[in-house]
Amino acid sequence: MRLKTMFSALVASTLLTVPALADPAPGGHVDRLFVNGHIWTGDDAQPWAEAIAVSGDTLIGVGSDADVKAMAAPDTAVTDLAGRFVTPGFQDTHIHFPGPSINSVDLSDVKTLSQFQSRLKDFAAAHPDLQWIIGKGWGYSIFPKQIADRKYIDAVIADRPVYLAERDGHMGLANSAALRLAGVTAATQDPPNGRVMKGKNGEPTGEFKEAAQALIHSKIPPDSEEVRYRSLVTHLNEMARSGLTAAHDAMTTPEIVELFERALADNQLKLRLRFAMVMIPGEGPYSRQHRLQRPITEEDVAPYVHLRDKLHGSLLKVTSIKGVLDGTVDAMTASMSEPYVGTNVSGIPFWDSDELNQTVALYDKLGFQVMLHGIGDRAISQGLDAFAYAAKVNGTAGRRHRIEHAEVPRLEDLKRFHDLGVMAVTTPMFANPDETVLTNFEPLLGPKRAPHADSFRIFDDAGIVQAFSSDWDAFTFDPIQEMAVAVTRQTPDGKPIGGWYPAGRISVEAALRHYTRDGAYATFDEAERGTLTKGKLADFVVLSQDLTKIDPAKIRQTKVLLTVMGGEDTWRSPDFH
Ligand SMILES: [Zn+2]
Repeated sequence: MRLKTMFSALVASTLLTVPALADPAPGGHVDRLFVNGHIWTGDDAQPWAEAIAVSGDTLIGVGSDADVKAMAAPDTAVTDLAGRFVTPGFQDTHIHFPGPSINSVDLSDVKTLSQFQSRLKDFAAAHPDLQWIIGKGWGYSIFPKQIADRKYIDAVIADRPVYLAERDGHMGLANSAALRLAGVTAATQDPPNGRVMKGKNGEPTGEFKEAAQALIHSKIPPDSEEVRYRSLVTHLNEMARSGLTAAHDAMTTPEIVELFERALADNQLKLRLRFAMVMIPGEGPYSRQHRLQRPITEEDVAPYVHLRDKLHGSLLKVTSIKGVLDGTVDAMTASMSEPYVGTNVSGIPFWDSDELNQTVALYDKLGFQVMLHGIGDRAISQGLDAFAYAAKVNGTAGRRHRIEHAEVPRLEDLKRFHDLGVMAVTTPMFANPDETVLTNFEPLLGPKRAPHADSFRIFDDAGIVQAFSSDWDAFTFDPIQEMAVAVTRQTPDGKPIGGWYPAGRISVEAALRHYTRDGAYATFDEAERGTLTKGKLADFVVLSQDLTKIDPAKIRQTKVLLTVMGGEDTWRSPDFH
């Protein structure tokens, strides 16, 4: 791309002396034209277009077929979109790299205990050389009475240690061999902010919640650098296939940044990556917050400032800091102002408020955007308090601090989001009304809180900027599946009829905005991308059907035919001609 730009600059300067042959496209040579499309630009000044012209990595024309075709040079490559639907490239604004190892078992589509067991058995047989069997993606609904227990793994794998993270990663299930290896017994105490679950007989069940997972994680041999890198490249390719052109990593360590720098050097970087460094320097991505030993200082965070100075380009950029205020509703670890229905449990606040205020204020002063995972209403309020505190003591504005997931807010707090300029980065798939949501999540919240849980509408109605995310690898990163949930609040088989708390649904165009321009805003990129506007980066996707016209029940069948990032194809379906 750089070469091409240089070449056209050379041509342009040569042409200066020959005005009769002036460049037909002022602003650059047109390398690619996409014509005869139905293009949703996301730009309010010109919401729809038929054609776009690309020079190098930039859009230099967006408009009618006639106007844009007139910009063509003799060697411009022309793609006929055949009336297909085009949108800006999707940004996933909260995602977790490096993601599952290529040496792990995926349980995310498992629906029954027997499927769970046969998947494990097959994987173990296919990978005889793996010391540990690692996997992810189960939900409580597959277990009798929704109680996870190591006996279900022991029945199929007893000779090797096994650890399987629940689908959102806040808990996991080990088999007996793993417990023996980790020395976990009836006598093992709960660590701060974590639970080693025990049965009626006092023996550990194999289930570990939140920080207790470290008892097992610390025993699992890490993947080699090479396996980690190959896993990353695999995920990047899959993401390009699903129309993503950017993502915000929501728990970055310096080691993760290095993997991406290598991908960039190898020309394997298929997405623009933004990074949120872990709030407590030195902590790993799995750690859950506890009381600080001492306040975090500017000296502690100097490596982050250094990384931010180093990575501020359109491909890799450090913008943010990520902290975690609580757990999840399903595990009853999300911090609530009132107990979960039928219990006296109201969750685990991970932070002391004073320590949180001081820490957020430090990062705010240094110019970082702070992203706080807040699911329960008490955690969300605590996060907003910290943002208000930071703005007040530092006299800052416009930091675009964010509450991540924001699942069960107090309705009174919506105005505070708005007034503080705090964004909500929500996760559509959390509202997918599957077994776990209907039989665990909703009853635990009860009739006062469930109706506005994961409502995408309440943020839009309150004028809060809302960007969408998948929280992968908790859930699929596929933006089409995510948007389908935001629009229908139904499972893939159309249940419940009318949608789960349908007042929380939003329109297709709103969902597209949250996946495109609001994402770009969330990472301070709106001047250079997020809409298809002349002068912005050429990041866009061609879809098999027009999302704005079809029956919402059919959104899930949409295929991504072409993904273009910076003017270059990162995915082209064999079905796209
Ligand atoms: Zn997350």
